[in-house]
Amino acid sequence: MLVLGVESSCDETGLALYDTQRGLLSHALHSQVAMHEEYGGVVPELASRDHIRRAIPLLEQVLGKGGVEGSAIDAIAYTQGPGLAGALLVGASVACGLGLALDKPVLGVHHLEGHLLSPLLATDPPAFPFVALLISGGHTQLMRVDGVGRYALLGETLDDAAGEAFDKSAKLLGLGYPGGPAISRLAEFGDPGVYQLPRPMLHSKDLNFSFSGLKTAVLTLVHNQIANICEQDKANVARAFVDAIVEVLVAKCLAALKQTGLKRLVIAGGVGANRQLRAALNEAASRRGFKVYYPELEFCTDNGAMIAFAGAMRLQIDPQAAQRDYGFNVRPRWPLDELTAGAG
Ligand code: ATP
Ligand code: MG
Ligand code: FE
Repeated sequence: MLVLGVESSCDETGLALYDTQRGLLSHALHSQVAMHEEYGGVVPELASRDHIRRAIPLLEQVLGKGGVEGSAIDAIAYTQGPGLAGALLVGASVACGLGLALDKPVLGVHHLEGHLLSPLLATDPPAFPFVALLISGGHTQLMRVDGVGRYALLGETLDDAAGEAFDKSAKLLGLGYPGGPAISRLAEFGDPGVYQLPRPMLHSKDLNFSFSGLKTAVLTLVHNQIANICEQDKANVARAFVDAIVEVLVAKCLAALKQTGLKRLVIAGGVGANRQLRAALNEAASRRGFKVYYPELEFCTDNGAMIAFAGAMRLQIDPQAAQRDYGFNVRPRWPLDELTAGAG
């Protein structure tokens, strides 16, 4: 079965072809990061317009690279939510328009299910069940995953998402947008222990997170120093931030593994690309005898491959999940635990 995936929930337009026999055939991505950078964040109207410009050229690319005709596609999966309403509408209308033109069924996919299943696209995929830490720009959740659509929420952030904490702290240090990768690179030049930042909810005895206080602590540090902050000091602040957030993320993962008794940990979402986090998790895994799995680096942040893949997984358990029903609606807010194994 050949599935075309269309992702447009935020500021990346991603298309991909996934075949259940042959795996990922091709994928293509356009990131709007450069366009939004000067505004310091994603401008929804600009995002929607750019998705419109990019979708068809990217479609032609994935068909060309995959060496297939549109007629060979069996189903079209698109991100139905959560995300920016206007941006989602572009992907949905492209998918449904194509479905109508090619007479192919379409299905709406949950963006976070795409992130969550993306490590299964890697060369050494995890088996179910596993604990998943989903750390993206808009979400931070720990989940027990027993299979496709079988997700139990173990804990989540009470305020900012981990990616948001990275981005906001980076912005305070003047590192541009989105600053996650930049603050992480800068932290490598910082000395540990020069500044101490709080580890929010480290001892809360549950699996929830809170990151807004951490960002405020960075703000306080930067304000106090702003007059004479030098490059080395910036790096020291970055290091303190990364050390604090990594310590909390790792501790909560260990607690989730203990609580569930599982031995497999899956990391998904953009912050999963973070080097310091990967190093700390790998170290904990070898010390404590569990295994940690990541998506390929290029599939940590938004992409079409994870949507094509999630669509294909959905269709394998429920062939009726895709329909020739082209009257689409998007779901900008859509909690993952509303998903069930049977129908999306
Ligand atoms: P959501 O999926 O919750 O709707 P999103 O799609 O915007 O949000 P992703 O694309 O999964 O989120 O991830 C983007 C986030 O990942 C940004 O906050 C970005 O700063 C962060 N990020 C990417 N690479 C790194 C890195 N190396 N270190 C830390 N953060 C990173
Ligand atoms: Mg993005
Ligand atoms: Fe995302």
